[in-house]
Amino acid sequence: EKPVENHVFEADVARLLHLMVHSVYSDKDVFLRELISNAADACEKLRYEAISAPELLGSDRSPRITLSLEPENRLVVADNGIGMSRDEMIEALGTIARSGTRAFMERIEAAKAGDGTQLIGQFGVGFYSAFMAASRVDVVSRRAGSEHAWRWSSDGQGSYTVEAVELTDAPERGTRITLQLMDDAKSYTSKWSVERIVKEQSGHVPVPIDLVELPSGETSRVGDGTALWTRLRNEITKEEYADFYRSVAGQYDEPALTVHFRAEGRHEYTGLAFVPTSKPYDLFDPTGKGRMKLYVKRVFITDDAELMPRYLRFVRGLVDTSDLPLNVSREMIQESPILSAIRKGLTSRVLTAIEKLADSDKDAFAKLWDAFGPVIKEGIYDDFERRGQLMTLARFRTTASGDEHRSLADYVKDMKDAQAAIYYLTGDNLGQLQASPQLEGFRARGIEVLLLTDSIDSFWVTAAPDFEGKPFKSITQGTSDLAQVPKLDAKEKPSAETTEAVKDFIAFAKMALADAVSDVRTSDRLTESAVCLVAPEHGPDRQLEKMLQGAGR
Ligand code: ADP
Ligand code: MG
Repeated sequence: EKPVENHVFEADVARLLHLMVHSVYSDKDVFLRELISNAADACEKLRYEAISAPELLGSDRSPRITLSLEPENRLVVADNGIGMSRDEMIEALGTIARSGTRAFMERIEAAKAGDGTQLIGQFGVGFYSAFMAASRVDVVSRRAGSEHAWRWSSDGQGSYTVEAVELTDAPERGTRITLQLMDDAKSYTSKWSVERIVKEQSGHVPVPIDLVELPSGETSRVGDGTALWTRLRNEITKEEYADFYRSVAGQYDEPALTVHFRAEGRHEYTGLAFVPTSKPYDLFDPTGKGRMKLYVKRVFITDDAELMPRYLRFVRGLVDTSDLPLNVSREMIQESPILSAIRKGLTSRVLTAIEKLADSDKDAFAKLWDAFGPVIKEGIYDDFERRGQLMTLARFRTTASGDEHRSLADYVKDMKDAQAAIYYLTGDNLGQLQASPQLEGFRARGIEVLLLTDSIDSFWVTAAPDFEGKPFKSITQGTSDLAQVPKLDAKEKPSAETTEAVKDFIAFAKMALADAVSDVRTSDRLTESAVCLVAPEHGPDRQLEKMLQGAGR
């Protein structure tokens, strides 16, 4: 007799499962997509490991996912992929290993109790989503090449069991997941509805999917496993692209932009890249990696190849090339000159597509910019080569923009004759900036000021010395050179002369403030307010100073 081990779930998993079990989230279909995507991942991992260890494949060489509708409301999702060892099972199905699930939990904590389940749709919570539809989940797995098989079993109520099973009770290789469906999830025993859901959600995963009806044994192929990206662009519908995007990106929205191309010439590769509509959960996670997958001749190699620069880390998709050897090691990849050429090509294609959108559909571009502009602007700081291109692409709120976006080209075109610099004001939010007394003198002269509210703004303005020959200048810094530009209201008196009374006041203020300030002087900045603080000419401006202090520097 083999012993049955009892394990309790990690506290976070228990909380997550409680949520799944009691979920009122209406779109339960997503659990099927998650299980199929895990099955496909497992097949792709095996395909990769088999490159250096072909014996792992044995006589069963074709990857396959099989869904079976069994009696008594059971749904089975099986694959002949890499499988899991006992330890891998305990790690993968008992803890929260994946950062997406952790981010989901954090958001749930932050959200008010009750509405948290709506977030499931935005995150995709992986394997544990099975408990939205099942009252019991059994996972039987045999790792490729192993002589042992294991069963993991749980009702999602805080604990699970693990036991060894006879090889005759396990798949020859890979994983078989049996869901005992809850009463309100019986639609997943209907062939018709499972077929519809799978075709819709997972029809383009690169592993074929069969649907088997027991006990009749009738089998139909619901996904053909042809990789979507190998097909011709004009033969792929918008819906097919969107479904594929959701399955490859783990996103639940529509792609805002789809870039599909075949590069020929020095390097041959196919790229399929999507810009999401909504922000991925890990957009500002400092450890968050790029999510472009690398394939070599349709074999998945890694999603860790950094195929996109960091400032385009929201782009999802893949590159498939025939120029790298199949047995390229993940370490070699980082060094590969071919990869760096691909990275460059891909970056250009994506940026060009974004630029085209800016020209052709202002509203769509404005949405894209609102979601990802703060990330793209990191490139102005990071990517010296493309700085000019990214500055041209960038859009801003300004004192003249209203609710629209303005480009730097718009700004420069409307500059006053005697105006020498592009003026900006940085701060935490638009309302606060618009109310700043620092703007008074600029408003009085009709000089436009960029209102910058993203934290990256304080950095790139210091890195980007000019745009079309015009330097950037913080209006909170140094002496303002407004005197050259006449005020709009010409009748108004010229800027205050430094009368004796003003001189006396300045002397008094300097004495009273002592070491708290380095200088006190008259200024053209103000028209209504009496005083404002400015930073020295050189060094960080006021906002950057605050940020650096906040960071403890
Ligand atoms: P993710 O797929 O993002 O890693 P999941 O919660 O969907 O997160 O799955 C957790 C882990 O469980 C996977 O990373 C994998 O290690 C393991 N796993 C799940 N399903 C399978 C499967 N069918 N075959 C092999 N391993 C699996
Ligand atoms: Mg998964």
